[in-house]
Order: sequence, then C-alpha cells, then structure tokens
Amino acid sequence: MTTANRRTRIAIVGGGMAGLELAKELHRRGVTDLLVIEAGPAKELRHVNRTTSPEDALQMFLAPHNDPHFHRPWTSESSPHYDGRSGLRRRLGGRSLYWWGATVPIEDWALNDPAWPSAITQDLRDSWRDGPSLYERVAADLGVEAALSTSPPTPLAIGSHRFSTVVRAYHDDPTDPDQWAAYSPLDYWRDPFTGAALRDPDRPPTLSDTEVLAVTTHSGTVTGLTVRHRTTGELDHIAAETVVLSAGTIENSRLAIQARHTANNSVPPRLAGLTDHIVHGFAATLNVARNPNLPEGSYFMPGGPQVRANVFLDLFWQNDNQLYVNAKTTGEQLRNEDSYVDCVPADSYPWEVRVHTSLSARDNEVVSAERDLLNNIWHELAESLDHPAEDLPFDDFQNPATTNDTVLPESADTQPVGKPMAWSVLLGTEEHEGGTLPLGGVVDERHELAGVRGLHIAGPSLFPRMGAANPSLTTLALARRLAAILAD
Ligand SMILES: Cc1cc2nc3c(=O)[nH]c(=O)nc-3n(C[C@H](O)[C@H](O)[C@H](O)COP(=O)(O)OP(=O)(O)OC[C@H]3O[C@@H](n4cnc5c(N)ncnc54)[C@H](O)[C@@H]3O)c2cc1C
Repeated sequence: MTTANRRTRIAIVGGGMAGLELAKELHRRGVTDLLVIEAGPAKELRHVNRTTSPEDALQMFLAPHNDPHFHRPWTSESSPHYDGRSGLRRRLGGRSLYWWGATVPIEDWALNDPAWPSAITQDLRDSWRDGPSLYERVAADLGVEAALSTSPPTPLAIGSHRFSTVVRAYHDDPTDPDQWAAYSPLDYWRDPFTGAALRDPDRPPTLSDTEVLAVTTHSGTVTGLTVRHRTTGELDHIAAETVVLSAGTIENSRLAIQARHTANNSVPPRLAGLTDHIVHGFAATLNVARNPNLPEGSYFMPGGPQVRANVFLDLFWQNDNQLYVNAKTTGEQLRNEDSYVDCVPADSYPWEVRVHTSLSARDNEVVSAERDLLNNIWHELAESLDHPAEDLPFDDFQNPATTNDTVLPESADTQPVGKPMAWSVLLGTEEHEGGTLPLGGVVDERHELAGVRGLHIAGPSLFPRMGAANPSLTTLALARRLAAILAD
C-alpha cells in the first residue's frame, strides 16, 4: 500500500561511507535536492570508539551480536564465509562509524590492470579535471597525504622488512586519551566528539528507519524507489530522477539485480565477481627485555605485486619485559565467476539474496604467500629477540578453527606466553566486500548501471580490481567523482 508520495531529484540509497560522502560532495557543489534513504536509525551519529570503551568497540566489531545495529540480509551458500560475523551496521553513518581509518590507495600493480578504465585510473591517481588527482584531494581533506608517499620514512625494521607508520584518517578525542573517532562524512555536519551540529540541520536530508525494497523503472529508466518504513511497516513510493545505490556491496547487488531483471527478464538474476580481502594474522605475547629497535606503534608494509598483500603490524610493550605483537596481512581476492550474489525472483520485494564465494588458483597463491610472509616476519622478529620460534600454526583457510576473534581478551588471555596464535579471517567478515558492479563492466564511466538509465552506483562494489589496499580511500574518491558527474 502506498501511503504518501515524495519527490526528489537524487535519491541516495544507504547512508554509510559512500552514500554520505556523495551527499556531502553534492552539498558542497550546491546540489540540495537530494534525499538519503537509510534503513537504520539516525539517533547516535558518533563513531563507536567515541561512544564506547575501546574494549566494547572491539567486541562490537568481532562479536557483532553485541551490536543492536548488526544485520545480515543475505544467506551464505559458502558458510562459514559470509556467515556469522558477516553483515551490515544498519544506522545512519553505516560502517563509517566503526572503521579504523586506515587509508591506502589501490596499488599501481592493480590499478594498471586494464579492468580499471584508464580514464578512471587517471582521475584517481594522476590528475582530475586538470588539477590534483582524486586521491590527492581526498587525502588533503582528510589530512592523510602521507598515505600517498612512495618513499615514506621506515621507523621499524624487522630483518629484511622495512615498515612505515600506518596512515589513518582519525582524530584523538581532545578530552579523553582512550577515545578517538575515524573520519566519517558526517564530520561535515556534526562535531565528531560532542555530536553538536556544525550546520543546520546536522545531517543531509534523510529518511531514516526506511528500507529500500526496490528501484522502480519505466521503459528502462529510473522512476524512483519502493520503500518500507520500518516502524510502521507501511510502503511508500519516492519519485526520483536519479537513484544512487550505496547500500553496501550485497544490498547494492540485490537492488541492481532486481532492477536489471525486471527491466529485461533475459538478464540473469545474478552478479558475479564478489571479492573480499584474504586476511591472515598472528598474535603473541613474548617475555623479552624491552628493545629500542622495536618501538611501540602501528606499522605498515606493502607486500608488492608478487605477494598481492599488505602487512599491518602492532607492537605494544606491556612492561619492560613483555612485548605484545599482532600482525596481519590483507591480500587480494580476484574477481571470479564462482563468487557471486544471486537472487530468487519473486512477486514481491525484497528478493531473497544468496551469496557464494570461492578462491581461484591465483587466490590460493595469495593464501600461501601471505602465510610465508607472516612466518618470515615472525621468525625474523623472534631471531632479533633471541626468542625460540616454531612455524605459525595456520589451519585450513576454508574452515579455520581460529579466526581473528581470537584476539578478543577472553581468547587471548588463555594463550600461553611465547606461543603465537595464527588466524585466518573468513571472507565477508573483513568488511571490504566489493566487485559485483565493476566500473568498465556492468557500470559505465559515469558510474551508471547498463540497462537502467539514471541508476548509479557507489561504494566498493564498483571496484573492478581491489588490490591489497583497504577500500575506503578509493570509495571516498569515487564518491567525489560521481558527485561532480551528477552536479554537472
Ligand atoms: C570495524 C571496521 C573497521 C574497518 N576499518 C577499515 C579501515 O581501516 N580502512 C578501510 O578502508 N575500511 C575499513 N573498514 C571497511 C569500511 O568501513 C567499509 O568498506 C565501508 O564502510 C563501506 O562503505 P559503504 O558505503 O559501501 O557501506 P556502509 O558504510 O556499510 O553503508 C551502507 C549503508 O546502507 C544502509 N542500507 C543497506 N541496505 C539498505 C536498504 N535496503 N535500504 C536503505 N539503506 C540500506 C546500511 O544501513 C548502511 O548504513 C572497516 C569496517 C569495519 C566494520
């Protein structure tokens, strides 16, 4: 039943990292006739590391059933991947209120792949609209220019490995040293620490607690959205000239599949190419004397095109005789036809969504290369400390007994000192899922979906190839690009 009608020029589906960055950039360009439709509430607009203790924020990430906003609107055909901890954070702000702010541009070895349209690679990396590149502009706004340095200082060496400092888009809370907030596009509207409005109103025009069920079309052109108000269950139609899907990769895929299949039922209700990062790690507490060559900090090392993975390493001296080390690799999964989102067409929306994933031979090479690299770092670290070291005890990546929730205090505290825990992250739980709506593939260089005029895409679902980089710097850069296209 339709209870009311609204009309907007641009409807943005999902108020998370991509959707809000787009709304912000449109606002900066003077476009105000827009509406963000967000399935979750819009009450607390600050980052979880500002509103909860560091321990509770870690629990919310690694044990998300503790988070009232956690929601998984799909079924996994590849459990344990895309199951359990895999899901969305359904609230205005989305995962921009959870992320850690690690900003890494997609590596040249991935961006130079012809799968990335060369015009977009150029905009991201070289120059955009005759000025600085998109990466440069976003990095300058976020204060993370160091993320683009090709020869950063390397304050840490472990054997042959040289580490720089992790570059993060975040601020410490000036009033509480335990609390911080990573960048959110909401920073444009409200103070990240106090929540006080910086503009009136303190958010873009938003319809919250409103789930988008379907994109409506006529003769292959977008006409608007069918939505359901979650508090009343009532349905509405919102008329829009342009719709942007920014609801996370799997919801973007569902909405695009429904729209494409409804416009032309010979198009299969499936989008292939789903990717996440392939992640491994180890953590250990070592009884060793404080070593000035191993200063406390959070470090980063690119693994290069052979490994297709980056390394993140935390060193923390618990006292002068005890070091805690936590290392992880973030490796690239390539798009393949056997990793997909598909839907079951039905008379009503939303269609049921199923997710399937598999690793190709080249992905299995990454699994091995990451484990070798971590083993190498572990052995060289132990050697530099005269500490005995056996190989890291990795188990089956497809069905690991130990995932990264073993770093939660309740597991970590049971681990014997001196023995490393090795873990793998299930696909779909690294929160970097993307790839099903690639630029240069089903989406053109104006970010518009083939076969549905006026339907645009934002977020990591656009990436034709992920590289090893964390996605958000590129998500923000591409949102800025789309804003300029829509504003024009
Ligand atoms: C703990 C954590 C740490 C992370 N750290 C990093 C990091 O350091 N670096 C990095 O690059 N990335 C990091 N990420 C990943 C990053 O946060 C995500 O890649 C990014 O938020 C994805 O942006 P998005 O807009 O596509 O999705 P989201 O931010 O998830 O936003 C999607 C929004 O759409 C809404 N929505 C979904 N379906 C519907 C619907 N049908 N109708 C209406 N609204 C809908 C959701 O409620 C949500 O608000 C991290 C993520 C987490 C959880």
